[in-house]
This record gives sequence, C-alpha cells and structure tokens, in this order.
Amino acid sequence: MEKQEPNLSSSLEVLRGVGPSLAKALERLGLYRVEDLLFLLPIRYEDRTKLYRLGALQKGMRCLISGEVLLAKTVYRGRRILLVRLGDGTGQIELRFFYFSRQQEAQFKLNHIVTCYGDVRSGAAGLEMVHPEYRILAPGEKPSVSNALTPIYPLTEGIQQGRLRNLVRQALNIMQSKPPDDFLRQESMSDLSSPSLTDALNLLHNPTAEVDLKSMEEGRHPCQVRLAFEELLAHYMSLRHLRNLASKENSIALKGDSSLQRKFLAALPYKLTDAQNRVISEISTDLKEPHPMMRLVQGDVGSGKTVVAAAACTQAISSGVQVAVMAPTELLAEQHWREFNSWFAQYEIALTWVSGSQKQSERRRSLEEIQSGHAQIIIGTHALFQDAVAFSNLGLIVIDEQHRFGVHQRVALRNKGTIGLHPHQLVMTATPIPRTLAMAAYADLDTSVIDELPPGRQPISTIALPEKRRPEVISRVRESSAKGQQAYWVCPLIDESDTLDYQAAEASHKMLSETLDDLEVGLVHGRMRITERDKTMQAFKDGEIDVLVATTVIEVGVDVPKATLMIIENAERMGLSQLHQLRGRVGRGNEQSHCVMLYKGPLGTLAKSRLSVLRETNDGFVIAQRDLELRGPGELLGTRQTGLPAYRIANLLRDANLMPAVQAAATKIQAEYPDAERGIASRWLGDAHNYGKV
Ligand code: ADP
Ligand code: MG
Repeated sequence: MEKQEPNLSSSLEVLRGVGPSLAKALERLGLYRVEDLLFLLPIRYEDRTKLYRLGALQKGMRCLISGEVLLAKTVYRGRRILLVRLGDGTGQIELRFFYFSRQQEAQFKLNHIVTCYGDVRSGAAGLEMVHPEYRILAPGEKPSVSNALTPIYPLTEGIQQGRLRNLVRQALNIMQSKPPDDFLRQESMSDLSSPSLTDALNLLHNPTAEVDLKSMEEGRHPCQVRLAFEELLAHYMSLRHLRNLASKENSIALKGDSSLQRKFLAALPYKLTDAQNRVISEISTDLKEPHPMMRLVQGDVGSGKTVVAAAACTQAISSGVQVAVMAPTELLAEQHWREFNSWFAQYEIALTWVSGSQKQSERRRSLEEIQSGHAQIIIGTHALFQDAVAFSNLGLIVIDEQHRFGVHQRVALRNKGTIGLHPHQLVMTATPIPRTLAMAAYADLDTSVIDELPPGRQPISTIALPEKRRPEVISRVRESSAKGQQAYWVCPLIDESDTLDYQAAEASHKMLSETLDDLEVGLVHGRMRITERDKTMQAFKDGEIDVLVATTVIEVGVDVPKATLMIIENAERMGLSQLHQLRGRVGRGNEQSHCVMLYKGPLGTLAKSRLSVLRETNDGFVIAQRDLELRGPGELLGTRQTGLPAYRIANLLRDANLMPAVQAAATKIQAEYPDAERGIASRWLGDAHNYGKV
C-alpha cells in the first residue's frame, strides 16, 4: 500500500501511537503538526549519563546510583514506611517509600542490584533518597547509563514524559529527511544563523553527555539562543506589523480648538511639571494626525499621569469625538470617575459610567448615552470591551495601568471605532521597564516618559519590622492620627487560608478597631459590595476614617493625598513592584510620609533583598531594574505585565539583550524577505499572529 510520507506539516496522527484522543491532549499543549513537537522544548534535563558511587554522594545531588540490597524492611513510625538499604562497597544509602504495595515490598530481595535516580538528602541514618525512580536489575544484568541527557518536557494531563519523548524522537527522525525552513540562513544574515536550526533542535532535544548542562539550565546555550532569537523576532515582527498597519489606517484628526484645554489646565490647583507639559504636547501632536496614535506614557507612581490623560481628553472633546477611559479595577475606575467629574462637570461635559457590577437599568441607560453620542467621556473597567458597548464616534481610548491589560484587549477596543476609522490610543503604565525589554513588550507603541515628580514630594521613609513589633506600629498609627494624619493598613488576603497564613484583612480590621477604639477604622476589600466600598473610600478621602484596612485592591492608582502612613503586612510575600505600587499610595502630598513593612521571619535571601531595595530607594525605575535582576533568569515577565502572548523558549528578562539585534533583523526581513516573515510568524505564533491583522 502506498502511503504519503509524513513531513513536518503533517498532522500528529501520522506518528506511531497517536490516535484521536492523544491528538486532543496534544492540542491542549498547542501541538497540532509534527513541526510543533520540534518547538516544544524541554523545560530541564536530567543527567543519567553517569553512575555515581555511593561513597561519592553528597546531599543535594540529583543523580543515578546503583547498589546491592543489604536490607529491606517495613517499619511503623505513625505510618508504614518501606526502608531499603543499598551498598556498593564504597558507601551506603537508604531508600524510603511512604506509599508502596505489597508487591513492591517483595521486589527488594537481598543481594539484588537496584538502580535509582533521585535527590540525595541527609536523613536520620545518613544519606537517603525518598521515593526515587528505581529499577531492580535481572540477575547478571549490568547497570546501564544513558548516552544523552534526559529531556523533561512541560507536563500536560494525560501525556506521560516517556510518551512525549517518543513522539519528539519520531518528529526528529522526520526532520532528518525533511528539515524545517531555516529562515535566518539568508545570505546577508549568516551571523545570526549559527548554529543551524536543525543542529539546534537536535541538540536541545537530545543533548549529549558532554554538553554544558549549566549553560543549558540557564538558557544561555548557543542552540537555545538561536531559537529564542527567532521567537523574539516572530513576536517583534508581529507587533511592528500591527504598528505599521495602524500608521496606514485612518483616524479622525483631533484638531479642535484648544480653549477647553487651556481653561482646564488653568483651573488646576497646581502647575504642571515640565515633564507633564512635554508629554501633553507629544500626545497633542499625535492626536492631530489622521492616523491612530499608539502611545505609551510611562511615569512612576505619583508622577501625575491622570491629569495628562485628562488634558488629552479635552483635545478629543473639543474635536467632537468620544473618549473611553479604562481602568483595570473598579476601585480605580471609580476614582477616575469622581476626579473627572470634579474636573469636567463645570464645563457641561457629559460623563458616563460603565462597569460589570452596574445595575441592569443603569447599564441600559449608559449604553444608550454612549450609542446616541450624548456621552462624551465614558469611564469604566474591562466592561468597556464588551460587544454590547457601541460607541457613536469613539475618537480616543485611554488605558490606565496598561500592565494589567493584554495586546488582545487593546485590539478589541481599537475595533470599536466608527467603520474605517480607528480611535487614537493612549496607554499609561507605572511599571517602568528597561529599554531593551520595552523594545520587545511595546514594539507596537511609541513611548513618552514622565521622568519628574511634582515639586515638594519627599521620599517616603521606609522601614521593615518583624511582625512581633506590631504593637509599636499600632501606637505609631495612634500618634500620627492624633496629628490628623491618615493611614492605610494593607493585608494580602481577606480570608484565613490554611496554606498561606496571611493576616486576614477582616481579622486585622477587628483587631485594630478594638485596639484603636478612639479612632475610626474602615475596611475595603475586593469581595465587598461596590456601593459599600465606594462609601468607605469616599469617607476615607473626606477624612472621616483615620485608618483604612485594605487588601491589595488599593494597589494601583488610588489617590488620597492626605494619607501619609502605609503599613504593609506580610511584606515578605509580595513582589518588589507590588510593594512599590502599594507604598506609592502615600507620599502624594507635601507631607513627609512613612511606610512600615511588617514581615514574618525568618526572611529568605530574596525577601531580604526586596525589602532592602525598598528601604534604599523610592525611584520606580531603579526598583524595576532591581526587580528584574532579583527575579533573574527563569522567572518570566508574565503576560500580565507585558500584554504579550506567552513565550515558549525566549525569556524576556534573560534575553532582552538580544533585542537590538532582533530589531535590526526584523527591519531587514520585513524589507527583503517577506516570505520569511510569514514563515516565522506562523511557526512561533500560530493563530495568535492574526492579532497583527485585525
Ligand atoms: P499617577 O501617575 O500615579 O497616576 P496621579 O495622577 O494619581 O499619579 O497623581 C498623583 C497626585 O499628584 C494626585 O494627587 C495629583 O493631584 C497630584 N499632582 C499631579 N500633578 C501634579 C503637579 N504638577 N503638581 C502637584 N501635584 C500634582
Ligand atoms: Mg494613576
């Protein structure tokens, strides 16, 4: 029977052992075609190429050993434990099993040889392995080692490692006769194409025993870099593509007269900083173009981004279009709602509110106002993305705290413009990232930076205290309240949880209300009724509440300038950027502000460095850089921060240094090799690269 020979674009069912149900399971891993298996890279490797003598073992090693069964017995120590002692003349080790069958127990016969792979730990009776993988050798059989490192693939339900390894091996075989297109092998790009794609894939799936395992584990091996480069290139080109499309699209040029903006700015109780003025004029220039602006404004916590956004809104409104202002949380959206009302109601500008928790009747009214064109500024949460929200003439979209949104959501909003016209986009973020990283994450955006804080701001003095000193901190809250200053008391979760013994906000609220019985203590958290939370926030803003106990719902954007004291519980559990954001809720006025980070000791090394970074600096850019260094390679900057689809091999933190070369290659490919652009995009982004086409 003649059968067409499988190639890399064949469906997975051409592989031995793949039927419809396994194919479904593989789809869940994003694997559809044979080639996809080649690009499913191991997350780590195990070294079973060497057999270690028992006398050479040290705790902490993860390795292959073999030895003769000297003793096997079941003991009772609260539970049944199977203990097996192995020896090889140079030393001994104990195997411990807590879960085992009768049959397993009987397998370990005296003097039989066993090979094991596992972690060496130090136990009560010397070195031990707990639940190692093991095999009992047949009489006369010699222990054998593998001649390549063993790849470990990302796990998925219903697919065993051995199965995956086997499938990848079949894919590699197909690759030998039908290699994948090596897009970087173009003549003029030869410096990027070493090693070749096939060599790189072969080595990564099947590293020989001689390979530098350390560099492989750190993701710095040239073969990994070769693939990471191509993947970064795919993502970058796709975002640039989006940018290029946008620059050819049409938008309404917002050239309305500037009297509203002048009135608005003149009425502010403060003078704008030079940085704010500069960014406002950058935005203003963009908005006058008949093509969509796609601009990112980066500015540290408290640098005054909201007023910059509001200035952009005035330009849109005086040009007769609608503006949508979107915030990542209800709390932040509510705050913008209040602030924008206080700014704009006097000019008879119509503001409308949209959120997920809105009553049906209210929602219907909002939608009508938006569709009829009555609403000029529409403020809300993700709910603005929904299909039901139809704008009459949306001209500008403002997205606050962009790191909480993804590229896809940006695209969804873009499409809400009038047919054929795309709204301008202004995106704001307080999470500054290094330049090379920004090249990858924001390739579809132009950027402006507010690199100056309003005058008179004093650095927030910050200390870290062990939680046993909580009573002192409470006294401090009492003293500062006596001086008319307000405080936040932040707790990470609202309910007691068994696994994480967070200080629950509700418990803290109770405790603080009792201890500080002469003070007004309020509580806000994510599961509260919105109206209630609203009331409490407003009361805090109005100075009726002295201490606001809150979960991290207040993490972004909340602005109560009179609050000067911030207490953060379980600070050791939080990330640097999150702590910086939380701390940024104080220090917003001219008063000296303080932040106390309470922690539960003993502190790990990482937690210790995080807390000391915050004690040493208030500069968000420095903190972001340190955050990246501390988290180091291996910790991905997730899609939440970047708004990008997940990377398979590249690690934006580790590989950001490749970005200048990626950028150069992208320019070359987009100009000279359009086929390669399509090929790379479909290899790495699959369907996702469609987001460049919407
Ligand atoms: P963020 O950049 O974190 O969003 P906000 O827009 O919330 O910062 O502004 C922080 C605080 O600084 C607000 O209370 C705001 O009124 C105030 N503010 C903004 N710009 C200035 C300025 N130029 N001078 C003084 N205060 C300002
Ligand atoms: Mg803000």
